[in-house]
Amino acid sequence: MSEEAMIVVRACADCGAVWYLPRDLCPGCGSETVTARPSEGVGTCAAVTRYAATEDQPRRAFCLIDLDEGARMMARCEPSLNPGDRVTATYVDGMPHFIGSR
Ligand SMILES: [Zn+2]
Repeated sequence: MSEEAMIVVRACADCGAVWYLPRDLCPGCGSETVTARPSEGVGTCAAVTRYAATEDQPRRAFCLIDLDEGARMMARCEPSLNPGDRVTATYVDGMPHFIGSR
């Protein structure tokens, strides 16, 4: 995984819930006992939305990824991904960009 950026997941010490977007309270049980840790950036693609290329933009896509740590996140991805594909995070301009695991 690149050192320039990383994905951080949050976990609840009380109920075990894991999530991606930063929150001070657990979305499952409301606990304030929340820990943060870096993700390995590996997971499974759950959904892909593809955008056609235009004069200004190349073909691009966004995805929902189920990280192996248990959190689901939205990110950019290569347009050739499909639901069910195993994926790995790379970083483009400091933002996660998922590609198929090689
Ligand atoms: Zn909780």
